Amino acid sequence: MKPKVVIGNWKMNKSFDEAEDLISDIEDALDGLNINTLVVLSPPYLYLELTTDHAAEANFECAAQNCSQFKNGAYTGEISANMLADLDVEFCIIGHSERRKYFGETNAILAEKVNRLTEVDMIPVYCCGEVVEERKAGTHFEVVEKQIKEGLFHLSPEAFERVIIAYEPVWAIGTGLTATPQQAEEMHLFIRSLVEKKYGTEIAYNLHIIYGGSCNPSNALELFSQPNVDGGLIGGASLKAEDFVEIVEAAETVGKEN
Ligand code: PEP
Repeated sequence: MKPKVVIGNWKMNKSFDEAEDLISDIEDALDGLNINTLVVLSPPYLYLELTTDHAAEANFECAAQNCSQFKNGAYTGEISANMLADLDVEFCIIGHSERRKYFGETNAILAEKVNRLTEVDMIPVYCCGEVVEERKAGTHFEVVEKQIKEGLFHLSPEAFERVIIAYEPVWAIGTGLTATPQQAEEMHLFIRSLVEKKYGTEIAYNLHIIYGGSCNPSNALELFSQPNVDGGLIGGASLKAEDFVEIVEAAETVGKEN
């Protein structure tokens, strides 16, 4: 079985000192564990170098929360994939629902961001998921299919192999409303079958599809036990070292049982 992936998305939280403490606490806690799970910390841009410095000595990796759709140039305030790669940042979250909602990111823009990342051999963590109205209307499969086809399916098989997909039902993000393990499994299986049709069985099998949306220490084990849930994208619960490490331990437990 492939190792699980657990990514902590800190969003726009923590002062520099608090970030340093959180990184050190996670580093110390993981240091004692012989883990197989891929653990990734995704702090705000300003703390990326701090995180990659620690990651060089620790058993976690580092992700940015966004990157520019452009290579370089007169785009004030933007950060390019090249700049991130220069800092040894290997992963980048793309298309989080908050970026789609507050910053107008469309599937077409996200397809460009994915291109910028794969061009510099970074790993896009491509987020998809329906809003509550779409779930209630029963259009959630269509919505997710469109997000995946328009944002990712232009990639060559070699580039697609680098991608991680995060299914995050928007109604479950930061709300305390978690998708049931069955709802998560059903959507993950659907996503894997889309990928299988496009890229074949091996690439679909190897793809990591992780779940995000109010995942916490008390529900992580059950979510990660679903056959098509390959880990989690963790928001609120990644801001406390103890909670985050418990989620990593849940991923480890499931990884060992299988
Ligand atoms: C997220 O924002 O990616 C997320 C999953 O948040 P939370 O865990 O707080 O729901």
